[in-house]
Amino acid sequence: MPSVRTVQGPSDLHLHSVHSDGTESPGEVMAAAHRHGLRTAALTDHDTTSGWAEAAEAATSLGMTFLPGMELSAEHGWRSIHVLAYLVDPDHAGLRAMTDRIRSSRLDRARTMAERIGRDYDVDWSDIVAQTQDGATVGRPHIADALVAKGVVRDRTEAFDGILRADGDYYVALYAPDPVTAVRLVVEAGGVPIIAHPAGRAGVLPMPVLERMLEAGLAGFELAHRENLPDGVRVLERLAHDRDLIVTGSSDYHGLGKPNVPGENTTSDEMVARILARGTGSTAVHP
Ligand code: AMP
Ligand code: FE
Ligand code: FE
Ligand code: ZN
Repeated sequence: MPSVRTVQGPSDLHLHSVHSDGTESPGEVMAAAHRHGLRTAALTDHDTTSGWAEAAEAATSLGMTFLPGMELSAEHGWRSIHVLAYLVDPDHAGLRAMTDRIRSSRLDRARTMAERIGRDYDVDWSDIVAQTQDGATVGRPHIADALVAKGVVRDRTEAFDGILRADGDYYVALYAPDPVTAVRLVVEAGGVPIIAHPAGRAGVLPMPVLERMLEAGLAGFELAHRENLPDGVRVLERLAHDRDLIVTGSSDYHGLGKPNVPGENTTSDEMVARILARGTGSTAVHP
């Protein structure tokens, strides 16, 4: 049996790079984590693992442990659910097919949104491409950055509060699997699935959905996250306690794209150890 090394915190298990909607390279993200005193950090770009190698190299050269992760898009009805997937096998065929499908749908969707927005504002597809690193998972944040570059809005927040609103005229949904399918795929790929910011403004998922996710192998909840609201956190804390689930805390750092700061929430050494013991698709990289 492989021995699982323990890690020492502080640990931040949710950070984004330019491989999705962060504004820094994976190496810069790990350097930011290190500056903020972290000893363990995960890279969790949306629907891609392409930043892992650079992040692992940067983290270990700074004396940090790198925990490979991804934030998989899912959808329940109209609402967008994010499933953090730690230690997945990046080459698992089923998971790869799913992330390829999501990313290609994100591309089509961003083009359609650009067309719609372009009818009313001076922005087109090339402006969005200019804000996106080649091969990155495209999202509304890149459209927001194009709107900022064109002087239409001041920052991403203003774009999300107005033009990019999910209930607005320009919004187009992306393809994403239901949350139970997402959890099942992460488990099949040897990963540890944890619901990201599970108690945000949209509220906690209905209990029957959570039950089915748990049956599929859901490991826990990201309870310490700035977008979670206290009422939902209380409900999930109780559930986590009763079912002995993993609970994490993270920043959801996006570089300059959000005010979130590395290490603003952290995950306990005990919980990191449980994730390491449970994941079999890939391994943490130690300095
Ligand atoms: P999408 O998945 O393309 O619909 O875009 C959602 C992404 O936008 C999430 O991953 C968030 O990181 C980001 N996001 C949501 N709201 C905001 C905001 N107010 N400011 C900056 N980024 C945001
Ligand atoms: Fe994001
Ligand atoms: Fe998220
Ligand atoms: Zn995130």
